[in-house]
Amino acid sequence: MPDVPTLIDRIDATLDREREALLELSHRIHAHPEIRFEEVQASAWLADALEARGFTLERGVAGLPTAFRARLEGQPAGPTVAVLCEYDALPGLGHACGHNLIATMGAGAGFALAPLMPDLTGTLLVIGTPAEEGGGGKIMMLEEGVFDGVDAALMIHPYHQNQAGMATLASVKKEVVYHGVPAHAAMAPHLGRNALDAVRLAFAGIDAMRQQVRDDVRIHAIVSDGGAAANIIPERASMTCVARAADARHLHEALLPRLLGVFEGAALMTGTTHEVQDASHPYDEILRNPPLESAFERHARRRGREVTPFDPAAGTGSTDMGNVSQALPGLHGMLAIDDAALPHTAAFATAARSARGDATVVDGASVLAAVAAELFSDGQVRAQVRDAFSAAKDAEAKG
Ligand SMILES: [Zn+2]
Ligand SMILES: [Zn+2]
Repeated sequence: MPDVPTLIDRIDATLDREREALLELSHRIHAHPEIRFEEVQASAWLADALEARGFTLERGVAGLPTAFRARLEGQPAGPTVAVLCEYDALPGLGHACGHNLIATMGAGAGFALAPLMPDLTGTLLVIGTPAEEGGGGKIMMLEEGVFDGVDAALMIHPYHQNQAGMATLASVKKEVVYHGVPAHAAMAPHLGRNALDAVRLAFAGIDAMRQQVRDDVRIHAIVSDGGAAANIIPERASMTCVARAADARHLHEALLPRLLGVFEGAALMTGTTHEVQDASHPYDEILRNPPLESAFERHARRRGREVTPFDPAAGTGSTDMGNVSQALPGLHGMLAIDDAALPHTAAFATAARSARGDATVVDGASVLAAVAAELFSDGQVRAQVRDAFSAAKDAEAKG
């Protein structure tokens, strides 16, 4: 088997040749933003590009039309390494989370590793995972066995800093619907029961909770239905509410029961009924894997990037990669595409289609391919990754 420096030279030589194709793909996905579960074009473009480079494609895996799994076998036995592509956009904001870059860093790693696989032992997967933005595609794919047998799952998210990993928040998204009794708001208001009042009181209850929650807790909501007309006592009103905490245990065992109590209290106060539904699969927090992060850091530095440690005070979000990293060793590295812009802003969408965004596609593809190449060729790295995962799960169980 070739040594790692030789593999890296070959990875970067392939990426030099593939650069234009990769950037064209990144720009095309950026120009055609598709939101969660509607990523028909992006998933097909990525799958086609991988198929053209020798991968065997399974499209529509896990019953999700926009999910795919591309497979390339090396020599028999050996580990299975998965590189993940996200490609969903945000409603109204386009690629303001830069998932066109995640997609093409992942596909680029596949392009770069494809010519190496005959010399490596193991199986390379490039997995297309839809609906990261509040749909939880990876969670459905985990449940359907798409990640079974995978020894490590690798991805990189664009950011305003280069970081080997980040702590994310566990999250839940609930749709709360209140049912009242409609009435003429002037002629017979006493006959009505106001569903919108229930929503307003639920917001007030959440605000009253805020002072008595841990610092890592986030609760944020919108009114998703505010009633039909101002002269009718609203018969139906609803809200979408996201709650997050640093760990899933605290979120589900301590915070969520209180939140459900608030929703119920608002119904009681207004004489309405209510129902609470999951609006997304719950996301778990990322379980970090230090050996995978060290490998990321080595290769990000090799590409001339200064890597800074994750700063919990800088704020964080949630990702369905958290669930993957709880099930098997996972890497969620971050590469800077801007010095200041944060995800989910118009400025970040611009950065995702900038020269610096383009450079990040190639750097990210090189880093992912190099980390995968180390996993394929170095049993010691694999053992460290596996042991770190087991140790982190043990620590969590004792938690
Ligand atoms: Zn996002
Ligand atoms: Zn994102």
